[in-house]
Amino acid sequence: MNALRTAEVIAVGSELLGWTRLDTNSLFIADQLSRLGIELRAKAVVGDDRGRIQAMFTRALERADLVILTGGLGPTDDDLTREAIAGALGLELEEHEEITERIRRRFERRGAQMPEVNRRQAMVPRGAQWIPNANGSAPGLRLEVDGRLVVLLPGPPRELQPMLLDLCAPGGVIAEGAGAERLHRVSLFTTGLAESQVEALVQPIYSLWRTEEEPIETTILASPGQVELHLTLRGPDEAHARARLARALAALQAALGNAAYSTDGRRLPEVVLASLRARGHTIAAAESCTGGMLLERLTSIPGSSATVIGGVVAYSNDLKVDWLGVATAAIEAHGAVSEVVGAAMAEGIRARTGADVGVAITGIAGPDGGTAAKPVGTVVIAVSIAGQPLMVGTHLFAGDRDMVRVQATQAALNRVRLALQA
Ligand code: AMP
Ligand code: MG
Repeated sequence: MNALRTAEVIAVGSELLGWTRLDTNSLFIADQLSRLGIELRAKAVVGDDRGRIQAMFTRALERADLVILTGGLGPTDDDLTREAIAGALGLELEEHEEITERIRRRFERRGAQMPEVNRRQAMVPRGAQWIPNANGSAPGLRLEVDGRLVVLLPGPPRELQPMLLDLCAPGGVIAEGAGAERLHRVSLFTTGLAESQVEALVQPIYSLWRTEEEPIETTILASPGQVELHLTLRGPDEAHARARLARALAALQAALGNAAYSTDGRRLPEVVLASLRARGHTIAAAESCTGGMLLERLTSIPGSSATVIGGVVAYSNDLKVDWLGVATAAIEAHGAVSEVVGAAMAEGIRARTGADVGVAITGIAGPDGGTAAKPVGTVVIAVSIAGQPLMVGTHLFAGDRDMVRVQATQAALNRVRLALQA
């Protein structure tokens, strides 16, 4: 077999061409291949049509060392991948008794009889090898064609993923074909800075890496409230690559200062929870315009119950007054979105719950409700920690309602993170 340097992925399924289902298998495959240093050159989605699958496959095989097809291995009439590939390569399909037996036993274990149509899943193009599927009836298939590798995998992600992991693990046919070069990746997450600000700080550093003998490639990815730097380095020596990437990360961290909050893949809620846990602190939240999103992000992390007490969605002014003890006069004088009210909410939730840290969010998420003085996107965030001065600040976030809400939770988490360092 040729060294596997380039790959193409073809996702088969008419539903993937509609507006309800997305091809996610290719993302998983791209991730695994990139770890092995195999470059994904193209991917395609094709409907359940034998001629079109064949045409797509034939062209992919002319260009890539590895072609992976997913889906269309089921037992029904619209599952055509097996037949299409055999047809394109001029190979006979033969039934493998061992596969039929496995499928039969799979049905019998559940007290059912194998329907005759499932025999189709035991059909293997001559010369191909089959790949066991622990989570479904359709086996995968692999075959070599003029030194190139063709892999067929079932469509359901929970079936495909473990099968692909096996093929990409040491000893697996894709890993063995990939050779010794690997793509090593690290990432650094920042918050509180815009993409252009991050770029201005780090571009002078990473631009030098591009021209080195073993270049490090840097990509910047921005999402609401977060800018990520992804570094990749291609090379055969894992320890060497890791050391070099660690030095690169350190240089970026030095330039970014406190805006860099993670270099180990952990997201902001995890980092904040770890920091709270390290100090033995508990946290509670009073949220207005984010409607519980902050607590949802914190509590989605396993183990958060030791640290998160809970909180309140104090959307109405009445609840801010009745539940959090915000003074009616403060709301009348300054408005519900004001630093005075935000501060009172943070102190109120801390007093009410007995948490060590109280965090509050009050803002105008839009699209209505903005004024000249407080336009849509104005969000006040306050953090109250026992024995520390209260932290309160006003942000102005851009974007639609969803984006304002996401940025508000991100900024609130960041304020907690920074307050804990103080
Ligand atoms: P199939 O193997 O074609 O019978 O696919 C069975 C099911 O797997 C489909 O109904 C989808 O729910 C899922 N599926 C198929 N292809 C993909 C894909 N590329 N990405 C994510 N899910 C998929
Ligand atoms: Mg299908």
